[in-house]
Amino acid sequence: MGGVFLPYSQFVTLLVLSSNRANRWRVGRSVSYFDGTNFGHTYSSNLCNNERFKPMKKLLSNGNTNAKTAKNLRESLILYLAPFTQNSKGINLCPKASAGCISACLFTAGRGVFANVQKARRERTEYFLHDRHTFIRQIMAEINHKAKRTQGELAVRLNGTSDVKLVQMCVATGMHIEPNVVFYDYTKIPQKAGTWQLDSGHRYVVTLSRSETNEADVIKHLQSGGIAAVVFNELPTHWNGFPVIDGDERDDLMLDAPKGVVLGLKAKGKARKDASGFVVTKVANQA
Ligand code: SF4
Repeated sequence: MGGVFLPYSQFVTLLVLSSNRANRWRVGRSVSYFDGTNFGHTYSSNLCNNERFKPMKKLLSNGNTNAKTAKNLRESLILYLAPFTQNSKGINLCPKASAGCISACLFTAGRGVFANVQKARRERTEYFLHDRHTFIRQIMAEINHKAKRTQGELAVRLNGTSDVKLVQMCVATGMHIEPNVVFYDYTKIPQKAGTWQLDSGHRYVVTLSRSETNEADVIKHLQSGGIAAVVFNELPTHWNGFPVIDGDERDDLMLDAPKGVVLGLKAKGKARKDASGFVVTKVANQA
């Protein structure tokens, strides 16, 4: 496992090189996905100059550190990054985020209300953006370490508060992944949603999340047998003719859910005050 980490001296070199390049406020510039794809949005970064890239000893959180993943049927690991453009490079880690989901984002829910937790998520994001190669290998090492000590499946969610191709990056390393690992995620990118068999042979279940801007895509996804997540102020039994099950029951429910169901999520935190249409209200649901 130790072989996947850079020696400390090389890390320091990277740190110096990186700190020369980044860490500026970027206001109103056109943002790009980390792989260079430009999505044509223009947003400002919320990261201050003094938040620097540094490697971190532990990237993944155990499922029992979050109220919802703690209810999972499986042992779990989850990765929290800073969503959207909250990084020194202004890179958008949620390319299909809507105004409603950004303002209701779970980034600041639960333990995310604490400044030190948010800071750690930003630091992790800087690490990812400045040294993706080492970051991904460290993730792989942490997953395998836990998987070897887990009886049954280990559920791994890498986009706890982001929407990037982290799982594909892990697989692309060609590194061994323990056979009891199963990946899952939520996404707002229609092409990413579905149940996949990865090149490594592992299962990857991705639920399409509804926002106020992608409802037509979500309905199409459900019609084709996919699973979708919808935030409601009150859980209905059906939404647009599709059965709604309680998606708050546990976070890994999508790994066991039947085809064509809606994981209904109750609006929490800032989402309770949503006026954008991100939260489906009872009135809209009955219409
Ligand atoms: S896409 Fe998800 S993680 Fe990103 S801002 Fe929206 S709710 Fe937050």
